[in-house]
Amino acid sequence: MKHIQIDNLDFELFIDYEQIKKRIRLMGIDISVKYADKNPVFVGVLNGCFMFMADLMKQVHVPCEVSFVKLSSYQGTQQDHIKELLGVGMDLSGREIIIVEDIIDSGNSLQHTIAALEKLNVASIAVCALLMKPDCLQHEFDNITYVGFEIDREFVVGYGLDYNGQCRNLPDIYKNVAHSETA
Ligand code: 5GP
Ligand code: MG
Ligand code: MG
Repeated sequence: MKHIQIDNLDFELFIDYEQIKKRIRLMGIDISVKYADKNPVFVGVLNGCFMFMADLMKQVHVPCEVSFVKLSSYQGTQQDHIKELLGVGMDLSGREIIIVEDIIDSGNSLQHTIAALEKLNVASIAVCALLMKPDCLQHEFDNITYVGFEIDREFVVGYGLDYNGQCRNLPDIYKNVAHSETA
């Protein structure tokens, strides 16, 4: 499937599952070398990470643990949104953490996730993201160590990433193509 349409938006095939798997294999090797004797905890941020986490973990060949969290955003009493990390469910103090993210866009959610984990007295935090949009980043991070693909300012779906809840099940990644006014 090269093209898909959801509502009135057109998407075209961008990164196919074969490319994704190849990249993840290399990321798994990098992580396995670095964390050989550290028994890291992979903390996946739901929902978007679920496919990436499943494939990544099959390529990590060192002892480790896997956990998932969810970032809930709710309107606080002030105007700004407050984000809370839900579902940690285990003692992370003293542990080497690898946050697993589907995509880093502005970096807002990642900043909240890191801040919340830092309060739990973890030993270290590294970030492993399948996709990152460097041109959209609004924060500085010194721990985004593993990035699958750097992409431009485009909206992508598939492989866990949704549009209005749809498309998470697609094995490949698609990008939105703008309708051309002049065509
Ligand atoms: P950030 O907080 O870095 O701006 O955005 C992170 C979240 O926004 C991601 O976890 C994801 O849910 C959503 N997001 C950002 N860019 C995209 C995109 O291109 N496609 C989809 N489907 N979601 C995106
Ligand atoms: Mg995410
Ligand atoms: Mg989404």
